Amino acid sequence: MAKIEKLLIANRGEIALRIHRACHEMGIKTVAVHSTADADAMHVRLADQAICIGPPPAGESYLNIPNIISAAEISGADAIHPGYGFLSENAKFAEIVELHNLLFVGPKPEHIRVMGDKVEAKRSAGALGLPLVPGSDGAVSDPAEAREIAARIGYPVIIKAASGGGGRGMKVCASEDSLETLMAQAGSEAKAAFGDATVYIEKYLGNPRHIEFQIFGDGNGNAIHLGERDCSLQRRHQKVLEEAPSPVLGAEDRARMGGICARAMADMGYRGAGTIEFLWENGEFYFIEMNTRLQVEHPVTEMITGVDLVREQIRIAEGYPLSVRQEDLRFTGHAIECRINAEDARTFAPSPGTVSYYHAPGGMHVRVDSGLYAGYRIPPYYDSMIAKLIVYGRTREGCLMRLRRALEEFVVEGVKTTIPLHQALLADPEFQRGGYTIKWLEEWLAREDAA
Ligand code: ADP
Repeated sequence: MAKIEKLLIANRGEIALRIHRACHEMGIKTVAVHSTADADAMHVRLADQAICIGPPPAGESYLNIPNIISAAEISGADAIHPGYGFLSENAKFAEIVELHNLLFVGPKPEHIRVMGDKVEAKRSAGALGLPLVPGSDGAVSDPAEAREIAARIGYPVIIKAASGGGGRGMKVCASEDSLETLMAQAGSEAKAAFGDATVYIEKYLGNPRHIEFQIFGDGNGNAIHLGERDCSLQRRHQKVLEEAPSPVLGAEDRARMGGICARAMADMGYRGAGTIEFLWENGEFYFIEMNTRLQVEHPVTEMITGVDLVREQIRIAEGYPLSVRQEDLRFTGHAIECRINAEDARTFAPSPGTVSYYHAPGGMHVRVDSGLYAGYRIPPYYDSMIAKLIVYGRTREGCLMRLRRALEEFVVEGVKTTIPLHQALLADPEFQRGGYTIKWLEEWLAREDAA
């Protein structure tokens, strides 16, 4: 066991704050790092120590490995938590952290590497017994081979970048006529965005849901699952609202699929938090990728299990066993998270600027994860998500009623936000019934635009 005394948080915004809170509850001191644009950010204000690591562009600050390692050494930190995004899935970074005798609060570097390459990830997942989307067995570069694979699995197919992420680097192909062109396009776009032109092909599922399982491993062959999250409400393959449990999954399916995921992670010797993402159609699960980090939507799992996932990550990094056994985990009630972005709720144009007035909702079972305050200037350089509203209810219906009330109380003035979008969604009877798929939101938005 290696007790962490001081932890450097290599991130910004609400997730930096989330990690800081877990640390202080555990008696761990925190070191914030920040760009010059974030000098007044809440994560900087609350940390025990703060170190500026560079100018606003993320490449020169939040992705600047030498500066982050120097900050850890100067401050005497003994561990680094990468949060999500930025360096969280960079295997090289995890290795460098460990080479400097710092604890990396995350998986083993080799697991980050395998799962970061979607082709490798799919191969490993298949070998570990997870059900896959039918498709190419690995990377495809030869058009003739691509035609043969697509004909076998049937059109439409989706061409995906092996190094893709954040919903980018994907092309849906309806027929053989456009296959070669789209493959070339996908390859060059992937090369430009991720520095790697490798693509692979899989069956394009017509109308699936996105259901993912939260897992935890101790790195020594023990692993558990903490149930699923339904992240089907998406725009441009980006999650907008998430819920747990999924409105379509029963206890038996949860235990079966969760069990398969946990066993796979145990076999792998996986360490720390991870998420196994599936598409779900006609009662069948199809693995798409694994994220080797904490997810934005982790609070919905915390709400229905009572487990503090960041605390668990830190304990595992310290070398403790998992704090809960599978048989002791109970899934109770329902939780929904709304991602609130500084964007126009209709056009989704970013809306950075100064927050002139801020009032966060409160009351029973209402949680707001956000670094906002009145007078805060939202910088234009980073992700537009400025707050997460997470609400719990004993039933999904109760949760929806509480969420409606909480959104009503939420006031952010000075910038545009997506709060009105969430309010409109909540008023929709189809959404209320929970029958939506990954296509639903975009169709709904198109109808709203037409009206
Ligand atoms: P990323 O790493 O960029 O998030 P994913 O592989 O997780 O990429 O896919 C993101 C989203 O793209 C999914 O949630 C789903 O909406 C869509 N998608 C991915 N693969 C398929 C597929 N085979 N069929 C239909 N939709 C897909």
